Amino acid sequence: MKLSRIAAALAAGILAAGTAGAVAPERTDVVIVGAGGAGMSAAIEAREAGAKVVLLEKLPFAGGSTLLASTAFNAGGSAIQMKMPKPYTADDYYKKLLKGAKGKELENVRQLADLSGPTADWLVSLGADLGRVINGSQHTRKAGGAFGAMLAPVLLKRVEELRTDLRTSSPATGLVIENGRVSGVRVKGPKGEYEIRAKAVVLAAGGFASNPELVARFSPQWKGFPSTASVGDTGDGILMAEKAGAALSQLDLTGPQTVAYDTGHGAVSLTAVRYNGAILVNSDGRRFTNELGNTAVLGKAIASQKTGHAWLVFDQASVDHAKVMEGYRKNGYFVSAEDPAGLARKLGLPEAALSETIRRWHAVFDSKQDTEFGRKDSIFSRIDRAPYYGAKVSPASQITFGGVMRDLKARAVRPDGTPVPGLYVAGETASQYGQGLTIAVCLGRLAGRNAALEALGTK
Ligand SMILES: Cc1cc2nc3c(=O)[nH]c(=O)nc-3n(C[C@H](O)[C@H](O)[C@H](O)COP(=O)(O)OP(=O)(O)OC[C@H]3O[C@@H](n4cnc5c(N)ncnc54)[C@H](O)[C@@H]3O)c2cc1C
Repeated sequence: MKLSRIAAALAAGILAAGTAGAVAPERTDVVIVGAGGAGMSAAIEAREAGAKVVLLEKLPFAGGSTLLASTAFNAGGSAIQMKMPKPYTADDYYKKLLKGAKGKELENVRQLADLSGPTADWLVSLGADLGRVINGSQHTRKAGGAFGAMLAPVLLKRVEELRTDLRTSSPATGLVIENGRVSGVRVKGPKGEYEIRAKAVVLAAGGFASNPELVARFSPQWKGFPSTASVGDTGDGILMAEKAGAALSQLDLTGPQTVAYDTGHGAVSLTAVRYNGAILVNSDGRRFTNELGNTAVLGKAIASQKTGHAWLVFDQASVDHAKVMEGYRKNGYFVSAEDPAGLARKLGLPEAALSETIRRWHAVFDSKQDTEFGRKDSIFSRIDRAPYYGAKVSPASQITFGGVMRDLKARAVRPDGTPVPGLYVAGETASQYGQGLTIAVCLGRLAGRNAALEALGTK
């Protein structure tokens, strides 16, 4: 091709990137964008199916928000759940998910529930600690401690055992599309830009919680809150898929998480504190909501309080309940006092009201009936064992559920429901109601397996 024609083609943006530069594009079977929970799970499945895989991660390390996850892997029908005195099945988990799914894309929600139990067992087979089940669906670490800090290394170990070509500090900058088919990605690696051609591409680049502009675009009602998600979660995969013609859906499912503590140099999530027994009070020292209710509802409830904040209140029993709590305490996230009145003074809350709220909680704990707000879960602590603790929190962006519409094979689909050829989505990049880690690992495995089957021509 003559130089003038190359220049004209480049200007028109229609030249396949591989013919533009001096470096010929690399070739592989499957490229996966993002090495968080979804991307690593996809890579494991694709490698085990026999595919050659390149796993791209834009940050200098793998893990994403998966590494930051605090509490639990939700599932129904896992081996450990089926051995419980009252087994908790995939149906039970589906019913739980239905409460937040707003009646949308329910086939996918059903599939997630069905995949969740076997996926929990798969994680255990890789060496993950899912040994303690609480509240029916939540698999937490038997040994206690932050969940993602255990899970991400387990996935990474398997990725490495399978000799996956993992490239960190290597953001994908766009998709290569030829004749309507996604056939690769452009990458900005440490040594420059290049292109990888692949028979299938999996976008597992997380959600958009750390991109204030996308939060404003997709869920304007939540703009302005801090983010507790990975700095890598800037919606790149969603934007790439949108450009390739995929439909975006369910963006209204996104809501803020509820309990971010401002360290002064960034927000951290204190979600685990609620799950370990804390109550939430407002600036009047009163409870105002079910602390374990739907997170979007809870986020709205906090945002609508007089100051837009809430205060977690709990006691030593909660701190003793999980290692992660002791870690937070050591990090200085909590203030403490020997009695409720002292705690109220330190938190700047009305003493009498907070003491009264704690007394009312004793009745909830003793009867296990929360007649005022309907809380059913995590009633672990009576809040009567000194020291008493508290932390001021606000809503924050943490998980985004809306994203690229998918079919049951995890293929990205167009508004008319037909797949975008060659393109798969997983984790928070996909539109899917559920809990983040469950979405990441279940959809990651699904996308990785199907992408490999397509690439290897056995589909
Ligand atoms: C503080 C916190 C606590 C949480 N606790 C829980 C919990 O207890 N239970 C639960 O179920 N969920 C929890 N979640 C949610 C859950 O962690 C996430 O929903 C889940 O990990 C998302 O997985 P993912 O693979 O989709 O995204 P991530 O794990 O974020 O991975 C996406 C990766 O893609 C990379 N990436 C982005 N763009 C590009 C690009 N252009 N090129 C290459 N790489 C790119 C990112 O850097 C990132 O590493 C929590 C989240 C947070 C932040």
